Amino acid sequence: MNTLTYKSTRGGEQELPASLAIVKGIAEDGGLFVPTEIPKLSKSLHELCPMEYQDLAYEIMQGFFSDFTEEELRACIRSAYNHQFDTPQIAPIVEKSGVCFLELFHGPTLAFKDMALSILPYLLKTAAKKQNIQKKIAILTATSGDTGKAALQGFADVEDTKIIVFFPQDGVSEVQKRQMTTQEGNNTHVIGIRGNFDDAQNGVKEIFADEEFGKCLYDEGYILSSANSINIGRLIPQVVYYFYAYFQMAAQGTVTIGEQINVAVPTGNFGNILAGYYAKQMGLPIGKLICASNDNKVLYDFFDTGIYDKQRDFILTISPSMDILISSNLERLIYSIAGENGEKTKEYMEALKTSGKYEITQEMKERLASFYGGYATQEETLEDIRNVFEKDQYLMDTHTAVAYGVYQAYVRASGDKTKTVITSTASPYKFTAPVMKALDAQYEQFDDFELMRKMEALSHIGIPKSIQDIEKRPILHQDICEKQEMKKKVSEVLGV
Ligand SMILES: *Cc1c(COP(=O)(O)O)cnc(C)c1O
Repeated sequence: MNTLTYKSTRGGEQELPASLAIVKGIAEDGGLFVPTEIPKLSKSLHELCPMEYQDLAYEIMQGFFSDFTEEELRACIRSAYNHQFDTPQIAPIVEKSGVCFLELFHGPTLAFKDMALSILPYLLKTAAKKQNIQKKIAILTATSGDTGKAALQGFADVEDTKIIVFFPQDGVSEVQKRQMTTQEGNNTHVIGIRGNFDDAQNGVKEIFADEEFGKCLYDEGYILSSANSINIGRLIPQVVYYFYAYFQMAAQGTVTIGEQINVAVPTGNFGNILAGYYAKQMGLPIGKLICASNDNKVLYDFFDTGIYDKQRDFILTISPSMDILISSNLERLIYSIAGENGEKTKEYMEALKTSGKYEITQEMKERLASFYGGYATQEETLEDIRNVFEKDQYLMDTHTAVAYGVYQAYVRASGDKTKTVITSTASPYKFTAPVMKALDAQYEQFDDFELMRKMEALSHIGIPKSIQDIEKRPILHQDICEKQEMKKKVSEVLGV
């Protein structure tokens, strides 16, 4: 059997098997791991079409994780995609307002992060075993709100692991914060930082890049790994649902097999949409990948001008999981359109670090033809939430609504009538305050927990089980630190 290997986007590392790339999380030269080729589908679209989520997940992932045995990979899949999700379909398609919403929020923490973070702990444990690693794994994660909870949930009480989550103290919704600070499990640690998501993510990246610290941890029995979407163990499971969406649409008669679709993705760290790009390269008939940003529209500007410029104000919006100015996974796309040139990618990333921006070549820009970048303002987003609810009784969360707004703008500008999937990334219950305010200004006076009950009465969607009693659960994590103190915190938690 052909074993697929991974290499760093910055060219400075040997090729590694998937299991080692998963354990390491990020390459030693600071780059991200990418597959040396995109695997071909093992079966035709017609053969894959009738499969259940779990079997399809196996077919898609086995090419990427080719050093896992069938038994190992199937066991990971079974442990993840099961009754933790509130529907046996795992990721259902709902057709409303002329588009197909792919609901990715039916997992235990109500956001699309569950699609990957429910399986990552199992992939990581299996990978560590395969690599004969006798150390404990310390998971270090920066979160803009949703990754943190999903990672905590996935790793809580997993043997031989510890998980430390850093979140921007004032940059997440009330429900998101409460979900994290009430997390149980002896190996879980949640720390608020005085800073924004980019600060948290930079702090984590610096700790990973600190060789001396890494060695010190190693001597004390730990290896560091990441639950952010820089880990390929998180990215690859996300490829699956693009196929699954397509096959549901085929089964419902919305498309015929072979017909093209477009996808619209509310984007922050560029993980979700990159998985769509990989799906397209594997042979899924995707036309346009519509990249939707909020007011932090650094990606829109990049697709528009070819210049990535992070030097601008960081805006706290009603879609906080997309409040990001340094979109990590874009590095993988840059590497791809640079003709897999590690040297060049490294130059761009260094320019971003030192001067805050870089500009790609005309040739690279031409390779971005399948992407369309757009953004939606907060007013537009609130208006779209209200309109879609009034017209179709479908309640979008603020992130999904950003994608909906950009999709509408794309259709107006292009006249493109291709059937479109909008990845619906969070339950409206995670963002009750802005969603309810969108429906009626009178809701502004209530707190998030009261709004949950009002949302239930209005939408006739029951409050998800996992947050029904969240208001009453004891707060277990209250630690707050400065952004410069993250390393110190990690030392304290791990006792090194
Ligand atoms: C993380 C997140 C996003 C952004 O996804 P990326 O993969 O980082 O682009 C969008 N919406 C929600 C609700 C999220 O949690």
